[in-house]
Amino acid sequence: PLPVLAVVGRPNVGKSTLVNRVLGRREAVVQDVPGVTRDRVSYPAEWAGRRFMLVDTGGWEHDAAGLNARVAEQAEIAIAMADAVMFIVDATVGPTSTDEQVVRMLRKSGKPVVLVANKVDSPAQESDAAALWSLGLGQPWSVSALHGRGSGDVLDAAMAVL
Ligand code: GDP
Ligand code: MG
Repeated sequence: PLPVLAVVGRPNVGKSTLVNRVLGRREAVVQDVPGVTRDRVSYPAEWAGRRFMLVDTGGWEHDAAGLNARVAEQAEIAIAMADAVMFIVDATVGPTSTDEQVVRMLRKSGKPVVLVANKVDSPAQESDAAALWSLGLGQPWSVSALHGRGSGDVLDAAMAVL
């Protein structure tokens, strides 16, 4: 079986946009409003000659359990099935309490994690990315999934731990 790389993070941080960039096509559903796609979708992917399964997560809605609980639940399932995780944080927002909760799960899992500081669309935003060192997951990789900035480097980093 192919190794599994899961893309985890809060709604709207750019998970599906990054997945589409890896796939080289618009297959994962990108939305301004999260909430209608399935919880997890696996795509066969290839990067730098390595084949793997790329798992996009999402589709949860604000329900009775609350956004935080739903994100945590979905992240936990995705982390459990993954060999390595790309954890996406919106650098323009900074780490939220939901992000902190996912960080605790990632630590507990012992799985390799690549921290992605997304929405760093320009060099002027690099300081937003640097602020994510505070999560204690090592280097935040600055990326603009939308424009492609830094996406090759972060994928190389993911391949190194997958
Ligand atoms: P997901 O819910 O985490 O899968 O997020 P999506 O990939 O659906 O993206 C949510 C919104 O953020 C969409 O409007 C995207 O166009 C936007 N977005 C994603 N990546 C970037 C980025 O690198 N920069 C900017 N400015 N917007 C982005
Ligand atoms: Mg999505």
